[in-house]
Amino acid sequence: MATLPTLADLNAHPHVRFNPLRGEWIQVSPHRTARPWQGQVERTAGDEPPRYDPTCYLCPGNERAGGNRNPAYTSTFVFDNDFPALLPATPAFESRDGDLLIGRAEPGICRVVCFSPRHDLTIARMSVAELRPVVDVWVDEARALGARPEIAYVQIFENRGAAMGASNPHPHGQIWATASVPNEPLREQRALESYAGAHQGACLLCDYLALERSRAERIVIEEGSFVALVPFWGVWPFETLVIPRRHVADLESLSSGERDDLARLLTRLTTRYDNLFETPFPYSMGFHQRPSDGAAHDEWHLHLHFFPPLLRSATVRKFMVGFEMLGTPQRDLTPEDAASRLRTLSEVHYRDR
Ligand SMILES: [Zn+2]
Ligand SMILES: [Zn+2]
Ligand SMILES: [Zn+2]
Repeated sequence: MATLPTLADLNAHPHVRFNPLRGEWIQVSPHRTARPWQGQVERTAGDEPPRYDPTCYLCPGNERAGGNRNPAYTSTFVFDNDFPALLPATPAFESRDGDLLIGRAEPGICRVVCFSPRHDLTIARMSVAELRPVVDVWVDEARALGARPEIAYVQIFENRGAAMGASNPHPHGQIWATASVPNEPLREQRALESYAGAHQGACLLCDYLALERSRAERIVIEEGSFVALVPFWGVWPFETLVIPRRHVADLESLSSGERDDLARLLTRLTTRYDNLFETPFPYSMGFHQRPSDGAAHDEWHLHLHFFPPLLRSATVRKFMVGFEMLGTPQRDLTPEDAASRLRTLSEVHYRDR
């Protein structure tokens, strides 16, 4: 690079900065200021949201904050985020001042996936027939974005509920596709590689799933080709890990039958979550899968994490603070007890009783 970029150059674009204390990166999106907020406090049971909200920027036919109008969609709807944290046209640059001030451009794409035209639904309140097209959209978007040469990773996720920072209650998720592999999947990739290296090429998650299925104490539900369990090492009180039984590296490798199973499992699991405290259960969930950086990555085993914050009731949540922020995460409820509680819950939604 001819001239050394300054901090002002860095701050003109989305970029990542290196944290030498942790050996990982932080995403900075300086342009993203006027993001709309339509979040709200968690609704309590009985407080029914409307099927259509004329002020919601995700409902069919409504105008979004950026000035675009949504079509009168009847199933799923995908669009480029009007306030993206990442921009595809970000110019390539690296800024480096010794070994301590290291930053570089992070081009990327942010999309929004509306799961349903109905403002009042959640995954738990959608039928399997309504949810299956959402699985197909995730697969199609992962394939299309992953095929772009500048994209190394496609992160699909959902923040549900104001407690997790969701900016709108309309059922929707997000996709952030990035030029580099983010911290969390990168850390898991190293663990998968190192386990395979130490165990004659075996897969950490295949071996782990076989162990959990033989013991059953942390399994929550099985749905054909997919299993949901509370991981032995789970941090959040009712955290779950959803794993396909077959060693598949990514979403697009799922068969049609496996996609059916995934849709059914998600409906069943989120219904149990809602029934736990008889409230629309907040969570962050998302897939981890093979990077699309051109390498084969046969070590990867697709999976889905659910990180829900609630601990004891619809209003008492766990915070990661103090020792947990500075030392090591801590939990009181054991993963075995959490799995046992989730197992005993009905799959008839509390609002339908
Ligand atoms: Zn809406
Ligand atoms: Zn595997
Ligand atoms: Zn993961």
